[in-house]
Amino acid sequence: MDTILKVPFNNLHAQYLSIKDEVDEAISRVINDSSFIRGENVDRFEQEFSKIFNVNNCISCANGTDAIYIALKALKVKPGDEVIVPANSWISTSETVSQAGAKIIFCDIDKDTFTIDPDLIDSKITSKTVGIIPVHLYGHPAEMDKIMKLANKNKLWVIEDCAQAHLAKYDNQFVGLFGDFATFSFYPGKNLGAMGDAGAVVTNDNQLARNARLYANHGSLKKHHHEIEGINSRMDGLQAAVLRIKLRHIKDWTIKRQKIANTYSEKLNNIKMQIPLVAINREHVWHLYVIKTKKREKLMSYLNNLGIQTGIHYPTPLPFLQAYSKFGHKFEDFPNAYENQSKILSLPIYPELNSEQLVYVANSINRFFETC
Ligand SMILES: *Cc1c(COP(=O)(O)O)cnc(C)c1O
Repeated sequence: MDTILKVPFNNLHAQYLSIKDEVDEAISRVINDSSFIRGENVDRFEQEFSKIFNVNNCISCANGTDAIYIALKALKVKPGDEVIVPANSWISTSETVSQAGAKIIFCDIDKDTFTIDPDLIDSKITSKTVGIIPVHLYGHPAEMDKIMKLANKNKLWVIEDCAQAHLAKYDNQFVGLFGDFATFSFYPGKNLGAMGDAGAVVTNDNQLARNARLYANHGSLKKHHHEIEGINSRMDGLQAAVLRIKLRHIKDWTIKRQKIANTYSEKLNNIKMQIPLVAINREHVWHLYVIKTKKREKLMSYLNNLGIQTGIHYPTPLPFLQAYSKFGHKFEDFPNAYENQSKILSLPIYPELNSEQLVYVANSINRFFETC
């Protein structure tokens, strides 16, 4: 293994090249029609995305963070309310709770799946709790059965943060169909990514859908008729056109990610590292393939020297971020998230990763553990 093969962490350019003709044509049509805001592509995207999920309503918006915020506002979250979120996620999951005026209650993650530990949620529920935001982290569905039972028992709403989990399944059903709302991000690097920012919420509840659509569009469903104050969070026509093209490929791309993950899991069998676990009844869509090892730092630089880029998702669990130092959380409050902080490493995984690169990454990791 003397030759170095470049393996970037993601390769959006390769994805573009694989659908270049379709995308170029769709984009130039939007420009020709000057349908930059809303327009046919946005309407059609909402319809096509709903159809995949067989869900009543899809409301597009500007990004996946707004999607969560819009869902919270549609659910009429207010100051004093408490919302339970996992200790490991991207900050959007928690910052939107504060933006909506509510209090963030962090809950530790399960030590095997890294998603919110449903057995800990009960102890976090108070008379002020109004909802839970499970995150299907890395594309692995959270334990929705237990979460929904708890939510129903305590009359809490559930927003599923599906930013990393397009088309993942729990018990043979798409994630996003369990809670009151599901929120999606189409950030370029997500499993379904635009060529800029974009997001959406889906819900089967028509009243909640109306609230969301109203809030995302200046409190207005009819031009110049503002029922309430809202925000300006729109998906633009170019992004919708790109997403409609990519929707045709998402199933194939998901299968490719699953094949790559299977190959990693077959080849990476060293006891000095832990490969990701897929819990029973879940279909993982592998937004990220995250291994765990005490030798994370050494492995990361070893791979980097071989041309292989890796990532950490996320270097600091949410409760320990400076933004939340005011809460005074301690490491022992979230032992599993804390454990992961120094050990998790995300390997390159995307549909365009070729088999030569895949084998190279796996062999390089095995070689590291043989020699270290
Ligand atoms: C990416 C992401 C978001 C936010 O999406 P943006 O489109 O970047 O605003 C929210 N939650 C999770 C878990 C994410 O990974």
